[in-house]
Amino acid sequence: METKTEYQPFEVDQHLTARGNYWAGKAGSRFFVSIRDKKKLLGSPCKTCNKVFWPPRSICTFCFGELKEMVEIGPLGTVETFTVVAYAEPIHPRPAPFIYAVIRLDGADTGMAHFLDEVEIDQVRIGMRVKPVFATERKGNILDIRYFKPL
Ligand SMILES: [Zn+2]
Repeated sequence: METKTEYQPFEVDQHLTARGNYWAGKAGSRFFVSIRDKKKLLGSPCKTCNKVFWPPRSICTFCFGELKEMVEIGPLGTVETFTVVAYAEPIHPRPAPFIYAVIRLDGADTGMAHFLDEVEIDQVRIGMRVKPVFATERKGNILDIRYFKPL
């Protein structure tokens, strides 16, 4: 007589960290070089939809049209939403607690998540006006903007 073996779910408790490089694409490359070399923030407008994307992208998410142009936006912006990261993870680029906020720059119709600092956690508000603080030594990545802070 054949016996059937039943297996219980097998769980592995592990944490994977993967480092790598990637090409930021045409729009992303222009975006990072502009921040690194000029401290200028760029968005990509879609004239068909009358929207400006930040960070810039190559394709409009609404009409799928190609976006070739870039315009300077910000540097001031508004907190659209935020969260407080209260625990430490190796992937976090800074120790907890810290604040991630979605910032919509003036002149943009979309927002991007970045750090919010130089503010007490209980003082953060949706609609808060903010400005970027740039790294002194910029390397061509998103951390060339160290964080945003209240005006
Ligand atoms: Zn469009």
